[in-house]
Amino acid sequence: MAAKLSGGCACGAIRYETSADPVVMLNCHCRDCQRASGAAYAAIMVVPKSAVQMQGEPRYHRIVGKGGKAVERGFCTNCGNPVVARLERMPDLIGLQAGSLDDPAQYRPAMDIFTDSAPPWDCMSAETKKLGQGLPG
Ligand SMILES: [Zn+2]
Ligand SMILES: [Zn+2]
Repeated sequence: MAAKLSGGCACGAIRYETSADPVVMLNCHCRDCQRASGAAYAAIMVVPKSAVQMQGEPRYHRIVGKGGKAVERGFCTNCGNPVVARLERMPDLIGLQAGSLDDPAQYRPAMDIFTDSAPPWDCMSAETKKLGQGLPG
């Protein structure tokens, strides 16, 4: 049985939980994720959307990514914390920002994507699979 995942923003206006297994956990180093996270990359736990119970209403900012598909990053309108991401190319899935987890140690990234966009000060684990661009397909 999958470990239960829960999390939310700093002010508590947005909370989520799911007992679904993550489909993939990845660090995205694209420029859009850098801006949205304020850091070198976004740490994203991807789970089935239908399995996530969410309280509160994030505001979504839509950007069409390099691959031509939109990504909508959801943040709390009160505290501004990024919490979720919706991916047009994977409508049945939703990304949870790993830093918003109640227990961030549950995040174990398997890959780093868009590493071609990583700044020189970015650090990556030796354990992960590296993709210079996005996921194929
Ligand atoms: Zn908040
Ligand atoms: Zn990205």
